Amino acid sequence: MKKIQIKKEVSKNFKKHNHKLCYETSMKAFHKNCLEKNLKLTPLRLKVFELLLKDHRPIGAYQILDMLSKEGFSSTPPIAYRVLDFLIEQGFAHKIERFNAFIACSHPGSKHSPTFMICRKCDKVAEMCEKDSRLKLDKKSLSEFQIEESIIEIIGICKSCNQLETIKC
Ligand SMILES: [Zn+2]
Ligand SMILES: [Zn+2]
Ligand SMILES: [Zn+2]
Repeated sequence: MKKIQIKKEVSKNFKKHNHKLCYETSMKAFHKNCLEKNLKLTPLRLKVFELLLKDHRPIGAYQILDMLSKEGFSSTPPIAYRVLDFLIEQGFAHKIERFNAFIACSHPGSKHSPTFMICRKCDKVAEMCEKDSRLKLDKKSLSEFQIEESIIEIIGICKSCNQLETIKC
């Protein structure tokens, strides 16, 4: 396996950073993609995407429902799931199997196979795109098995949590 290089932009998710910038960049890409693909941007779709962008922690479907009702949306689980399915299908969000929860995509709209780094202490997630993760399969395995999608979840402890731990000891 080749070495995984972690870019600064990816590891920043675990540190204090200007999250307003993350939010704005993703929101802009979301709007642009919906416009280009002629996708209907309903208030509910926009709201759910916004919730998934809140911080870099994935949120579960029932948590989303809770937040929606607090904000005055009357949604039932099937409706929330339909919105999540839409966001995932269009490449705006991903499901994190480990948490059975969802997160906004860092590069919304493009088809890609993400690799996630997941901190088991703070539950934050950082997404690397295929290019950055360098986890590539050789041609032989590809001819034996046609890959339709690949989602890699790497579990560990981020630098911020690691430093906290050292201070405590
Ligand atoms: Zn951020
Ligand atoms: Zn993504
Ligand atoms: Zn952490």
